[in-house]
Amino acid sequence: MPGLLEGKRGLVMGVANDRSIAWGIARALAAQGAELAFTYQGEAFGKRVQPLAESVGSDILLDVDVTDDASLDAAFAALGERWGRLDIVVHAIAFSNKDELTGRFVDTSRANFKQSLDISCYSLIEVARRSLPLMTEGGTILTLTYAGSNRVTPFYNVMGVAKAALESAVRYLANDLGPQGIRVNAISPGPMKTLAGAAIGGARKTYRHTEANAPLRANATLEAIGGTAVWLASDWGACTTGEVVTVDGGYHVLGMPQSENI
Ligand code: NAD
Repeated sequence: MPGLLEGKRGLVMGVANDRSIAWGIARALAAQGAELAFTYQGEAFGKRVQPLAESVGSDILLDVDVTDDASLDAAFAALGERWGRLDIVVHAIAFSNKDELTGRFVDTSRANFKQSLDISCYSLIEVARRSLPLMTEGGTILTLTYAGSNRVTPFYNVMGVAKAALESAVRYLANDLGPQGIRVNAISPGPMKTLAGAAIGGARKTYRHTEANAPLRANATLEAIGGTAVWLASDWGACTTGEVVTVDGGYHVLGMPQSENI
């Protein structure tokens, strides 16, 4: 049986290493037949991403810092030249100064607020606008969010505000791009053991708490997040756009911890 994404071309942004959520998604997209290109942030990450990209048959690696318009322009120009058409974009990028992913939200600095929102939310808009001319046959744009967007999570602080803005951007982009057959969705995993995840104060406690209390008594896996991405990127997700799909073992339905943990 051919893969669900046979003939589709996807750009994956945000692989730092083999624990990255973007990598879990890339593996799943490739397993369903998608041809992939990758961006990486600077040379050091590039060295780690190259063998991963090669392992799924990709030789398109583009150095992109989303705060640098020229690097975004160059990457999309290169993709246009090489492929001419793009079907899937995965935006798995976020950043905040680690010093402000601990302590009180009220102490958020103006500089870090601007940078966090720029990298973690605004970049999706820049990426979407550049994707449009290449998504000539419609397409799918996916981003990654977290439940800290609408509920207070210890030390998530400014990133919660950035994710709230990101989820709203998903809805506005979905409305703008819908007439061109482009769907825009966010996947919201529970806590994952990644570089970005480890930067948040108390990350290990949050991970253990979710695992101990989620209805499935398990955290999300890269495979499950990848599977959700395949669904959203394939024709099976044809009528879903502007959505935030939660992949967290069911944790978000709880009103309080399980009785054994109170
Ligand atoms: P990760 O550290 O593996 O990936 C984060 C990526 O963001 C890295 O590849 C990094 O290079 C990239 N990035 C940061 N600033 C950038 C910039 N200026 N230009 C280009 N790239 C930049 O961590 P991850 O957990 O896989 O994060 C991916 C996404 O998933 C993020 O949006 C994150 O907020 C989200 N998410 C993570 C968790 C978690 O618990 N780890 C949970 C829910 C959502």
